[in-house]
Amino acid sequence: MTELALQQYLDFAYIVAVVLFILSLKLLSSPVSARWGILAGEIGAALAVIATLFNPELVQYKWIIISLVIGAGVGVPLGMVHMTAVPQRTALSHAFGAMSAAIIGISEYYVGTRQVTRFEMGEISLEVIIGSLTFTGSLIAAGKLQEVLPQRPIVYRGQNIVSLSILAGALGLAVALVVNPANTILFPIMVLVALIFGVMLVTPIGGADMPTVISLLNSYAGFSAALLGFVLNSKVLVVAGALDGSSGFILSVIMCKAMNRSFTNVMFGAFGQVQASAAGVKEERVVRSATPEEAAAILAAANKVVVVPGYGMAVAQAQHKVRELYDQLTKKGVDVRFAIHPVAGRMPGHMNVLLAEADIPYDRLVEMDEINGDFPQTDVALIIGANDVTNPAARTDQSSPIFGMPILDVDKAHTVMVIKRSMNPGFAGIDNPLYYLDQTLMLFGDAKQFVGSIVKELGGH
Ligand code: NAP
Repeated sequence: MTELALQQYLDFAYIVAVVLFILSLKLLSSPVSARWGILAGEIGAALAVIATLFNPELVQYKWIIISLVIGAGVGVPLGMVHMTAVPQRTALSHAFGAMSAAIIGISEYYVGTRQVTRFEMGEISLEVIIGSLTFTGSLIAAGKLQEVLPQRPIVYRGQNIVSLSILAGALGLAVALVVNPANTILFPIMVLVALIFGVMLVTPIGGADMPTVISLLNSYAGFSAALLGFVLNSKVLVVAGALDGSSGFILSVIMCKAMNRSFTNVMFGAFGQVQASAAGVKEERVVRSATPEEAAAILAAANKVVVVPGYGMAVAQAQHKVRELYDQLTKKGVDVRFAIHPVAGRMPGHMNVLLAEADIPYDRLVEMDEINGDFPQTDVALIIGANDVTNPAARTDQSSPIFGMPILDVDKAHTVMVIKRSMNPGFAGIDNPLYYLDQTLMLFGDAKQFVGSIVKELGGH
């Protein structure tokens, strides 16, 4: 085959890969088609990698094979982590992606010092700065989520000014390099300053905001890959990076909206700090609790039940028991639906994925905006391991750190039952006034065990 014909085949493979990436994002937007979305993305990525391996410019395969073995050795165990550890796993993936983008940019600079034009120097510098800061920022984010680093925001006076000065320093060095690309001594300093900025960027942000930060870092990693595509003249990288960058950015916006937070508040607000003081002024108040038998009797007597799943259901892996509960109640003629809050759990879509895994029909899953109007006509709101997303303080208490966050209006249901292990707060670290309402019953216990006990009471196994 001539080189021209081969190039045409490769270009065709890249176009198909890009189409598959776009299709993948489209399919991922609905739980019904999400599995196909994953498959389309996987095939697209495999096609892009295989086509690249046939690139006539490749001179030897030794290092590629070594890298593939190392990458697979790290990637396969990473892919097996529990669902609840996916945010930190994702942060690590972004760290690796950003690191490779930065390393390729660095090698482009050193390999091509003589020929690098000013424009290319600008591209390389920007790409290496974004890649480097995303690398260290993602590592800090993963460390915070895994709790190997303190979750609380680490802040000091004048922090934002110091951090922004460091960023300005990195950009200043980039400008100096654009003016004189041959000034090789500046390049490693610029990389080092960008790496430091990544640490400074994420350290002051509390654990509660990490999922949003990760999504934002995802977006940075994508844009750095897109810039790398320009540097390497690879169209597939430009498109894939742009898709990654923009989808990460859109997701961050959705998450910020769902928490009623602005970007600046997430990035510079040190959200987790408020938690400690709020937790400190807790007063003793009385709650009513109930047994599985009592809970089963109330559920069996209801006409309409709305189940609100949250992070605790994920931790307890209670979704299959919840499915059994759904089956038992449906058999008794109870109308059971599931209320999905956009940031329930620890990542967007967390609850959809778990409930789909347990084969709960999609049409029973109702988004927050759609179901909120139905709570006044709901007999029982059964909350399973959710907390912040049901906290009425978000509507009523202006001093609450989550004031303004849209919540599920469960307090408007006739009876509220809450399965959790203790009176401990949720992710935002704040008390929930819902638990002290007259119509609320606390069902203390592990979600899987408690739901299992209710199922038994209702005649299941
Ligand atoms: P949450 O507020 O973190 O509450 C989870 C509750 O589950 C806790 O109160 C805990 O109480 C309970 N729990 C833990 N393990 C349990 C078990 N084994 N059995 C029963 N209960 C258990 O969760 P959420 O209501 O789902 O809210 C999500 C939070 O994450 C929000 O603050 C949201 O802003 C934040 N967030 C989410 C995303 C996202 O994309 N989903 C992104 C950014 C931030 P006990 O310890 O008493 O059991």
